[in-house]
Amino acid sequence: MRKPVIAGNWKMYKTIEETVGFIQKLRPMADNAIHCEVVVAPPFTALRAAAEAARGSAVKVAAQNCHWDKEGAHTGDISTGMLRDAGCTHVIIGHSERRHDCGETDEQVNKKVKAALAAGLTPIVCVGEMLDEREKGETEKVLERQFMTGLAGLTAVDFSRIIIAYEPVWAIGTGRTATPEMAAEAHGFLRRLARQQFGESEAGGIRILYGGSVKPDNVGGLMAQEEIDGALVGGASLKVDSFTALVNYPRG
Ligand code: PEP
Repeated sequence: MRKPVIAGNWKMYKTIEETVGFIQKLRPMADNAIHCEVVVAPPFTALRAAAEAARGSAVKVAAQNCHWDKEGAHTGDISTGMLRDAGCTHVIIGHSERRHDCGETDEQVNKKVKAALAAGLTPIVCVGEMLDEREKGETEKVLERQFMTGLAGLTAVDFSRIIIAYEPVWAIGTGRTATPEMAAEAHGFLRRLARQQFGESEAGGIRILYGGSVKPDNVGGLMAQEEIDGALVGGASLKVDSFTALVNYPRG
């Protein structure tokens, strides 16, 4: 049994005060939501306050990025140890906006995943194709490259500690969601790669979230797919009401 995860990626939104207010409202909801894990990813400046506001509740706090070195001359970067120190349990790695805005490579993703695991964080590793890649029929080729390089050198035990997020880039922030069937097909492909690389039980246990314009009105259809183990949500995670509706997705 894979416990679903509903994770909110707040990107560059919310002050410390807004973060604390949000988590205070979310806490009772998340505590009642025993069917899934609830994760929020505020910006770096609000992580400590988020972790304090979430203490003693079921809400988990993720960062949106990390550096792979423990410390060093990396202006503007944050290490995995610093994220632990701030109270994070999870970290999003390889989000398409970082790949696009900052030129983040699969090799860097790999170093970050290893650093996060070494620090005891749960990496939420993002993969996904761009629109032209899908149109050229290259979706699986792209996913395979991101998976094989981004997760290179992980042991089966390491792999069992990560979460994968399949986020087709053309669906992020566009209102254009992959159909549940399209998402499930990509998830199935990723799970087959997991089986080849890490074995049957690891492939069966790995949680693969879907991300890309998930909203309260489409989450039910996505979550009804056996291959989809949760959602990584941007826009619809910014309001408590819609995030709460996502956490309480329709269950059969
Ligand atoms: C995301 O940022 O990971 C995301 C999926 O955004 P949105 O839900 O807004 O498409």
